[in-house]
Amino acid sequence: MKPLDVLIVGAGFAGLYMLHRMKLAGRSAQIVDESGGVGGVWYKNRYPGARCDVESLQYSYSFDNDLQQEWRWTERYASRAEILSYIEHVVERFGLRDGIRLNTSVEAADFDFKTKRWLVRTTTGEGFSAQFLVLATGSLTMPNVPDITGLDSFAGKVLHTAQWPQEPIDFTGKKVAVVGTGSTGIQVISEVAKYAADLTVFQRTANYALPMRNQPLTPEMDREWKANYLERRSRARELPTGVFGDFNDVSALSVTDDERRQEYERRWALGGFQIMMAYNDFLTNQKANDTIAEFVRSKIRARVHDPETARKLLPNEFPIGTKRVCLEDSYYDAFNRPNVHLVALKEEPIVEIFPNGIRTSQKFVEVDTFIFATGFDAITGSVAKVNIRGALAENLSQHWKGGPRSLFGLGVSGFPNLFLVSGPGSPIGRSNAVTSIEQNVGFIADIISFAGDHGYSTVEPSSEAQDRWVENLAELAHRTLYMKAKSWWNGSNIEGKARVFMIYAGGVPSYLAACNEEKDSGFPNYIFG
Ligand code: NAP
Repeated sequence: MKPLDVLIVGAGFAGLYMLHRMKLAGRSAQIVDESGGVGGVWYKNRYPGARCDVESLQYSYSFDNDLQQEWRWTERYASRAEILSYIEHVVERFGLRDGIRLNTSVEAADFDFKTKRWLVRTTTGEGFSAQFLVLATGSLTMPNVPDITGLDSFAGKVLHTAQWPQEPIDFTGKKVAVVGTGSTGIQVISEVAKYAADLTVFQRTANYALPMRNQPLTPEMDREWKANYLERRSRARELPTGVFGDFNDVSALSVTDDERRQEYERRWALGGFQIMMAYNDFLTNQKANDTIAEFVRSKIRARVHDPETARKLLPNEFPIGTKRVCLEDSYYDAFNRPNVHLVALKEEPIVEIFPNGIRTSQKFVEVDTFIFATGFDAITGSVAKVNIRGALAENLSQHWKGGPRSLFGLGVSGFPNLFLVSGPGSPIGRSNAVTSIEQNVGFIADIISFAGDHGYSTVEPSSEAQDRWVENLAELAHRTLYMKAKSWWNGSNIEGKARVFMIYAGGVPSYLAACNEEKDSGFPNYIFG
């Protein structure tokens, strides 16, 4: 068994930064990742149209000012390809390559109480003995494919957006069905619509999508950001989602209808999530939420030519923002094309899939390629296939069956020396992922150093502190409208999964304050041994 200070699972933004921090601290550390390349979710999700909906100048590491000053993004919102080039650059720049073992999955990890180390077995037959185990496995790792009668009999191609083949697929002249209209579906539909002979979109719940207004990043925009980078990064951490923007900290109901309408129009023209920062109570006040939801519906009605298609595309089953709002530049236009058709599944359910197509309650649609953009068993799904055993009788996945429990989303009582980056109970999903990752990794690096400096060989959250954190999470979520939507944030997108809001809903600043206080007071909510 290879001895290590730290074994890190996952070579995405989180795992790579963790490796960097461990190298800086002089610890022996190694990443294993099941994929054939670095990049985590960005490596796997190679579907056409894949792009990040957080602006590239913000969806990037802030830990090294030279890196952020020197890297030149070409677009306001980066494509998957550009994000991967950036990640490769980071790997080279910080000399991380040697510490990464690809095509290697963890099968089982057992904490050995005699040696106080994690004994880890991988699919390649390799073994590691590590003092600390860090799961940087991402929130969106385990694809969800619906169980539709007859899918096994289908003779054409079946794709899930997160399990896309390496070689590009030519959709020219193809009859394509896309199931799912979340952030991923909206991107893949916008792209495939341009090439397919026929594209049928199977939509279960209409979603809110705002204009992205992607554009080349001009030298002026780049210069302006870089001149203010440090202040903007620091301001971002003071805002609820950790994303820099013009956050207006007043209620949507504190202004007149006219003023509000003008403000929505102004922010709509700017694009991106600016409009979601127009007022401070969209997620806590249904009436405030209704004002923006209706504004977005009016924009969809104006975009889509066929009134019946527009009606089906209008989101009205959940408050806007209670599941991830999508960004688009050509999604609604796709439905104005003669080759694109919409099936609203609640009005016209799927009956069965056949070798050459799909039957709904109203018609048969010929299909030669199915694309499932049906999301993930999110956040807790990444540990489901790994047998992680600590002090408890059950493994981590079983332990979380009734809903995940952790302290800060970073560690679990009963699992000594195990850390999670962006685990359940952290702000992931409701914040700029890279901002959250950097803070999480920093906290983990600090507590590992603290343990070392004080001669401790084990550390884990106290169960009382964990209970308080879990209670706090539920209380914060119930002050909001989040539970009104079925989403991956609260587990309701997966049948049989515990319905628990898995994300810290108090906003980035109060999460950071709680973590900083923990650190500054010498980690009183952890047990060291
Ligand atoms: P998602 O948001 O969970 O959406 C899944 C879609 O599949 C929903 O429309 C869902 O319908 C539908 N669906 C699931 N099971 C179905 C079934 N049995 N029958 C019919 N429809 C079904 O997943 P996602 O779009 O992959 O996005 C996940 C997250 O990834 C996003 O929220 C975002 O955080 C991230 N992401 C970001 C970007 C970006 O930066 N632009 C791009 C892609 C993904 P219901 O709504 O009815 O459940």
